[in-house]
Amino acid sequence: MIRIEKLNKFFGDLHVLKDIDITVKESDVVVLVGASGSGKSTLLRCLNFLELKNSGTITIEGEQIEPQTHDLNKVRERVGMVFQHFNLFPHKSVLENVIEAPIHVKGINKAQAVKEGKELLDKVGLGDKYDVYPSKLSGGQKQRVAIARSLAMKPDIMLFDEPTSALDPELVGEVLATMKQLAEEGMTMVVVTHEMGFAREVGDWLVYMHEGRIVERGNPGEVFENPKEKRTQEFLKSIL
Ligand code: ADP
Ligand code: MG
Repeated sequence: MIRIEKLNKFFGDLHVLKDIDITVKESDVVVLVGASGSGKSTLLRCLNFLELKNSGTITIEGEQIEPQTHDLNKVRERVGMVFQHFNLFPHKSVLENVIEAPIHVKGINKAQAVKEGKELLDKVGLGDKYDVYPSKLSGGQKQRVAIARSLAMKPDIMLFDEPTSALDPELVGEVLATMKQLAEEGMTMVVVTHEMGFAREVGDWLVYMHEGRIVERGNPGEVFENPKEKRTQEFLKSIL
């Protein structure tokens, strides 16, 4: 689904991603961890072409994507992204938030978008909130709307950037449960999170980044039990 080879990204003189190589197979859940500033968000943003790489290749579903030759908006429809802050439209209802992009970006007719939007909201447990405005929702509910909104574009891959970091602790579980369900349905996912319970239970791979490089990767359980790198050991200790 995703193959990244020798990806490098600079912001000015700052070398943020250094020779990143990752392969993500269909239905894999890759959990990306690392200290703040290690480049996790930048890597996800490169995968979604919100940031453009300086060198290396990004292949999505067998197609090497280059800004010169591809319509990046079309690629973004295949790669959904959920952020720490939900960025819902405050003046639109929950359902309107979900159907906005299918109608205005994909050109789906409204009746069909409403039908699919309601199904998605039912799926994330918000079947009773179609007409509610975001300000009336808890953080966990908002994040589930954001997930439904992203799914409404029918992506093949979902990227999550610390989706539970802004939530009160008691609301984290409902969002992780939604993500787990999505993983069980076979969605290919790359998830930046420090929720190690989720990483162990749902993750197929754990990737540890340090200062722009991948320094360790493996089965989450094995990396926890037996991290090979000292930096990984110290990092895991710091977040447990
Ligand atoms: P993480 O998500 O792991 O915390 P980021 O990918 O956000 O790390 O950031 C990696 C590095 O790139 C940091 O040093 C950060 O300050 C820098 N950075 C991120 N975005 C930008 C930007 N748009 N312009 C300049 N520097 C940036
Ligand atoms: Mg980040």
